[in-house]
Amino acid sequence: MRKRALITGVAGQDGTYLTELLLGKGYEVFGITGPDSGDFLQRAEDSGGALHSVTADLTDMESLLAAVEVARPDEVYNFAAQSSVGNSWSEAIATTDVNAMGVLRILEAIRQLAPEARLFQASSAEMFGNAAEMPQSETTRLHPQSPYAASKAYAFQVVGSYRDSYGMHVSNGIMFNHESPLRGLQFVTRKITDGVARIKLGLADELVLGNLDAQRDWGFAGDYVEAMWLMLQQQRPDDYVIASGEVHTVREFCAAAFTYLGLDYERYVRSDPRFVRPVDVHVFYGDASKAREVLGWEPRVRFAELVHMMVDADMERLSAKA
Ligand code: GDP
Repeated sequence: MRKRALITGVAGQDGTYLTELLLGKGYEVFGITGPDSGDFLQRAEDSGGALHSVTADLTDMESLLAAVEVARPDEVYNFAAQSSVGNSWSEAIATTDVNAMGVLRILEAIRQLAPEARLFQASSAEMFGNAAEMPQSETTRLHPQSPYAASKAYAFQVVGSYRDSYGMHVSNGIMFNHESPLRGLQFVTRKITDGVARIKLGLADELVLGNLDAQRDWGFAGDYVEAMWLMLQQQRPDDYVIASGEVHTVREFCAAAFTYLGLDYERYVRSDPRFVRPVDVHVFYGDASKAREVLGWEPRVRFAELVHMMVDADMERLSAKA
């Protein structure tokens, strides 16, 4: 029998990569889109009946129950979120309603209507905050430092609680930053690759960022969705850190992107306090040994290749406008 998957936030970066992966494996995919569905509806129409659009909202319990009823999923992947840490101070309540309560609503909808379905919850390394431990693993203490991180910590813990209380097959991926040409422009990697392409093409003359010394463990989203799928194929549900294990500063990301196009980043990049956060997490550095050992997962795309892939995509997209 063909497997059925329900994906929330299907039109976003991870939803798009995972959809591709699951369709390639012969799944029937039901996608819940937010207000911005991108080209998802067109892709669904072109899919020959393998990809369906379902209307639902994480803040609306009835709509989630209806979505589960329609999809009758074997697997549910939850990506729907207010995903920007930076915006979570100005949108604290909406962030929490979707990222925390929304996950509880999904768990309840599954428990009530499809208790055998397996759930993947996109948890976040942001939950660790400025952690004392380096690198961070599944046993690192949570220390959320933004409304976003606090909302994700609640979701992480309530998933664990449903696993323990009801024996449901629900797993958390503790996802470190993962990027791609599909990453939103509000994230620093895309802001840089879009910015350098604009400068190269004469569409802009500077790039204004915030904290250039922040360090992140950046991987490729296409690799990370494979880890998510693997988690749901295990006999036992569990929580896994998914990370590249390699750390770079925002400055290094700039240097790699600008050098790739033959430019000196120091001439174009400027730091402005406007983009510096009330509290910033300085370093994320993940230890994915458990995913490596149990899931047999290994990231394939490394830092330089990721930067080049993103710059190439933005150059191609923007060349048409130049
Ligand atoms: P996050 O790790 O999920 O918050 O992903 P982001 O890509 O939004 O931010 C990564 C890091 O880049 C954070 O430490 C930010 O403070 C830093 N950063 C520096 N300048 C900027 C900027 O202009 N925009 C964003 N989004 N982040 C920036």
